[in-house]
Amino acid sequence: MRSLVVFCSLVVAVFNQKLFVGDQVLRITASSEEQITLLKELQDLVHLKLDFWREPVKTALAVDVRVPFAGLQSLKVFLESNGIQYRVMIDDVQMLLDEEKEEMFRSRVRERNTNNFDYASYHTLEEIYSWMDSLEAEYPDLVSKIQIGSSFEGRPINVLKFSTGGSNRPAIWLDSGIHAREWITPATGIWSAKKIASNYGQDPSLTAILNTMDIFFEIVTNPDGYYFTHTSNRMWRKTRSINTGSSCVGVDPNRNWGAGFGGPGTSTNPCSETYLGSFEHSESEVKSIVDFILGHGNFKAMITIHSYSQMLMYPYGYTSTETPNQQELHTLAKSAVDALATLHGTKYTYGSMITTIYPASGTTADWGYLNGIKYSFTFELRDTGRYGFLLPAEQIIPTAQETWLALMKIMEHARDNPY
Ligand SMILES: [Zn+2]
Repeated sequence: MRSLVVFCSLVVAVFNQKLFVGDQVLRITASSEEQITLLKELQDLVHLKLDFWREPVKTALAVDVRVPFAGLQSLKVFLESNGIQYRVMIDDVQMLLDEEKEEMFRSRVRERNTNNFDYASYHTLEEIYSWMDSLEAEYPDLVSKIQIGSSFEGRPINVLKFSTGGSNRPAIWLDSGIHAREWITPATGIWSAKKIASNYGQDPSLTAILNTMDIFFEIVTNPDGYYFTHTSNRMWRKTRSINTGSSCVGVDPNRNWGAGFGGPGTSTNPCSETYLGSFEHSESEVKSIVDFILGHGNFKAMITIHSYSQMLMYPYGYTSTETPNQQELHTLAKSAVDALATLHGTKYTYGSMITTIYPASGTTADWGYLNGIKYSFTFELRDTGRYGFLLPAEQIIPTAQETWLALMKIMEHARDNPY
């Protein structure tokens, strides 16, 4: 009976899901500004349904784009006739998705507690939420779950608080999963949260952090979007809010913050993946954090975790003006990526967001910095594009392990440099 239920839910899940059979991800390398302009024009041709995983901005940064099967031939002809170099990174997106799904079902143990939880596998929202409850129950003196708001579709927005006491201690904010399809980030978040809980009292440095500071971790920052990537469209990025006057759904929650809102690197088109929303903090997923952090008033670090590209960035994204703390943030970023590389040799680039990746306005880290949180950082986890958003589950643990070393550098610095 049980296997029949599992089989039926698998059939239903597959039946409702958008398929990507024959879609390819191309890595396009523009060699001139003219070619960048041509690629940007492609972005405006909505009927091509191109899904830019990395947008055309500058020649130094390769463009990754998922191309629906129906448009592959004509796009390749277009690129070749304009002398634009490309190569196929993912030959058939659906094949990777099938493998990913199979892995999720194969490795599924019915988790009862956070020790036998399968950290090396991707999990549904329901599983993650139930894991949070287990963590809270197993570490009652350290971990508590706080609901800071509700998502557009009414799901709880949960934050794990790690605290050894005191009142309104200086605090560190961590979030993952704000972009729905970046599955490696909540997976890393789960592993890291367990690490925080289990290492307290074991690891002297982490213990010293928790003896003076609180850590808040929002593991699934966009629960509606994350749910949607499991049930309907694995490639979903944005929130799931309804846009008045448009049939396109969702806002880019990393363009929605009150930090250079509406500036470069955002779109006012609700159908765009970087749609900023109708006003700043329009998304409850963003507004809940803003209210919580401002209400708390004592955050010293704010770290937001994305994928992919292997980058560690500090403010600003919305302007090329340097922050007054440029030197300190740069040195700290270097020490974090150096530590990260010691484990598996994974190389990160680092710097201010605008110089490292591209201009982006209304982002989490800029908002944090502009609101007095000096140690504000954005991670882009593995990889550099071989799998992009579809990082195989076997890379979850190595990614989480190496990221932990970088997170510790930043948290230690916040602990040792009170301001
Ligand atoms: Zn992202």
